[in-house]
Amino acid sequence: MRVGQGYDSHRMRQGSGLSLGGLKIACDYEFIAHSDGDVLIHAIIDALLGAARLGDIGRHFPDTSEEFRGADSKVLLSKTKRLLDKAGYEIINIDSTVIIERPKLKGYIAEMEEGLEGLLGLDKGSVSVKAKTDEGLGAVGKNEAAKAYAIALIKKKA
Ligand code: MG
Repeated sequence: MRVGQGYDSHRMRQGSGLSLGGLKIACDYEFIAHSDGDVLIHAIIDALLGAARLGDIGRHFPDTSEEFRGADSKVLLSKTKRLLDKAGYEIINIDSTVIIERPKLKGYIAEMEEGLEGLLGLDKGSVSVKAKTDEGLGAVGKNEAAKAYAIALIKKKA
């Protein structure tokens, strides 16, 4: 078994909604990013790649590439799953934390978890998403950024 960790952050501005955990959340903010800016999926991708020692998200999906401008992070996650498949790994579980001041994510967590499990072909209960604020501190506290951390456990397929 192998473990990997991932982290991501993106700046936010006034806008028409956030892509987060694979959901489109209607709110007064949007991410400033090359892709759709889904910090949670990006952290999960890095956790999975790290666990398999396959490099990082920037190596596989460079933010300088036109191919990934406005990219749907769900597609990048599916591609990451295929990279792990090819390397002979299966995912055991993923835990994650999103740090964002607004909007409150409580009402979206279950749908995010189920959606991510579906994208990765995992059993129900395999993906955990937690959400917290930064208590008004720093860029996150001023609604100028969001961050996410993830950890993934994988094992070599039998
Ligand atoms: Mg990112």
